[in-house]
Amino acid sequence: MSSKQAKFYESVQRNFDRAAAHTDIHPGLLQQIKVCNAVYQMNFPVRIGDTYQVIEAYRVQHSHHRLPTKGGIRFSHLVDQEEVMALAALMTYKCAIVDVPFGGAKGGVKISPRSYTPEELERITRRYTVELIRKNFIGPSIDVPAPDYGTGEREMAWILDTYQTFKGGEIDAAGCVTGKPVRQNGINGRTEATGRGVYYGLREVFHDEKLLAKLGFSRGMAGKTMVIQGMGNVGSYTGLISQNEGDVKIVGLSEIEGTIYSENGIDMEAALEYRKEHGTILGLPGTVTLPDRGDWVAIDCDILVPAALESVITEENAHRVKAKVIGEAANGPITAEAADIIIKNGGVIVPDMYLNAGGVTVSYFEWLKNLSHMRFGRMEKRFNHNTYENIINTVENLTGKTINEKEKQFITRAADEVDLVRSGLEETMISSFHQIMEVYHGYKNVDNLRDAAFITALNKVANDYMTLGVFP
Ligand code: GLU
Repeated sequence: MSSKQAKFYESVQRNFDRAAAHTDIHPGLLQQIKVCNAVYQMNFPVRIGDTYQVIEAYRVQHSHHRLPTKGGIRFSHLVDQEEVMALAALMTYKCAIVDVPFGGAKGGVKISPRSYTPEELERITRRYTVELIRKNFIGPSIDVPAPDYGTGEREMAWILDTYQTFKGGEIDAAGCVTGKPVRQNGINGRTEATGRGVYYGLREVFHDEKLLAKLGFSRGMAGKTMVIQGMGNVGSYTGLISQNEGDVKIVGLSEIEGTIYSENGIDMEAALEYRKEHGTILGLPGTVTLPDRGDWVAIDCDILVPAALESVITEENAHRVKAKVIGEAANGPITAEAADIIIKNGGVIVPDMYLNAGGVTVSYFEWLKNLSHMRFGRMEKRFNHNTYENIINTVENLTGKTINEKEKQFITRAADEVDLVRSGLEETMISSFHQIMEVYHGYKNVDNLRDAAFITALNKVANDYMTLGVFP
């Protein structure tokens, strides 16, 4: 097996087969679930400087069992067909696990975004969108892209604008893409969503008595140590929220330029600020730089969080992992062979298809907001606020006591959009965790959370196919 990307696809398929063996799903149906339903490869010219460049790009729709299909668009020079296929397949299982009613998809543009100016990136993004429109590969009820590695809300705004240029009359056009800027039909809380979901997911792990007994950990995340590889959107919000809301101690951070460590803990805000100012994390006061960038994998800590790209923990470095809990914030960061080693050594891998599903969960909320043409909370916020005020007034009248202004404000506060989004995300991560744990603790011979998550997903997708009447 040659490239990392091919290995990634092979890993996903291998994990599929292993989990499938625990189900009683018909082999024909399993085959239908496993394959990618549609693979679109395109090559288009874009003017760069005073010449033209041919850009290679993909959109893969893994499963049409529910529509629209959903998944991010990646800008990376490593993109190839197998990588996009693997990522699209993961989206199907991810959506099923968190009960987001979409099929899985993924897009990839084979470019290194840092080598282009914003104007050139805009041209590439818009041209890619036009290719998708031409082939009917985008639309609020067809296929809905979102950000992924190398893209963000800026690109999503360009996609929406291009789509609207062609489909101006469509009343639900805003739902053709998610992860948009809040002022351009986006939703509050989408940017932090994947990292926040990672935090909620890990928090559940640290509340599961049986897992804690196996790992020899005390309950709760407070005081636990964490190392994060990758300080992009997912890694930075995972760190910030774990530190600020979970009292987790970040002891190591890794980025392209290298890996830093501090036994006393690294303040995540300071680290992000420092990197913004200096273009590197190396030299952050109070930290030491480890000899090799790849040393992040071997730092002694409780929770290891790979939050960048696939296949970073392989059979070559898996034996170096000391952490007991490895949270897959990235998609596919641990190869199937590496996972076997980690599990044999007593580690618990919290699988990507569950742990990083917060992004697509809030994308689903954004899509619902777009289809309803109204922000969440608009109808009920004032009503709830007035109700709470009435309760307080009644209590004050009945008791003759007064509640101070600060307390009053706290109690009468009704939910804003971001509060509802976070609440929906928290509920999703908690209830999905329990569904996975039911399989993990309940099935014989299931000894890891990835198999448990996969089984949960496969049963749901198979059930959808059967209700569609495609399979008896
Ligand atoms: N790219 C993200 C993922 O891998 C988000 C996908 C989405 O929001 O549709 O889950």
